[in-house]
Amino acid sequence: MTTSIIKIMSQRGFLYSLQLIDSQIDKILDRINVINTRIQDKELVTNAQFVKNEAEQKATKKQSEIRKLEDQINSIVYKKKESEKELYGGKIKNPKELQLLQEEISSLKNRISQLEDELFNLMIENETLEHELQAAETNLLKITTDKAAEVADLESEKTQLLTELNVLKIEEEPIQAHIDSDLLNKYQKLRISKNRLAVVIVEENACSGCGNSLTLAELQKIKSPIDEYYCPVCKRILYYG
Ligand SMILES: [Zn+2]
Repeated sequence: MTTSIIKIMSQRGFLYSLQLIDSQIDKILDRINVINTRIQDKELVTNAQFVKNEAEQKATKKQSEIRKLEDQINSIVYKKKESEKELYGGKIKNPKELQLLQEEISSLKNRISQLEDELFNLMIENETLEHELQAAETNLLKITTDKAAEVADLESEKTQLLTELNVLKIEEEPIQAHIDSDLLNKYQKLRISKNRLAVVIVEENACSGCGNSLTLAELQKIKSPIDEYYCPVCKRILYYG
């Protein structure tokens, strides 16, 4: 039954059937291209990583400033204690020397108080930077997780599409086997040059590819089993479906 139908189908009929499948294949390949682009697009993750790295560097820099200042304060506190020991140690009796020592201690106290104010400000700045870093880390984690989920969905869709693609390619083989190889080449070139439409059907006595009205004589030729008939305007293969 199938064989007899195939025998009476014209070459243009086979080409038209082939094009129906090729259109589905094109649709799948287009979608796979979109999927591949989206899988490769790591821009959001890269940006989030960049923001996190910047925040991390700022926080690290601030912490190092804090440690440096703390060391400086500790060293002045130590100096002050040593001077106080001298002051109350009883070894120095000279009133002028004692006065100088008192002045030094007072100056060290002022310096400590000044540096402690600076340290307080650095601590507040550090707190802000720590919050920014935490927010950047949370954002990076979310974006990375979202991207992984998106990629998993896309990969699964792609696998499904590749299976469909294989089925369509298998379906095409017996159809292609019935088409003369020269005509098949012409068809493939036309699909490239004519926006994927090499074979077009006649609709309301006109070419559905370009709208050109066809004469009765032309329509008769199109309906006949001849292998090739081209639209005189758009040069696509015309088929009476
Ligand atoms: Zn046309």
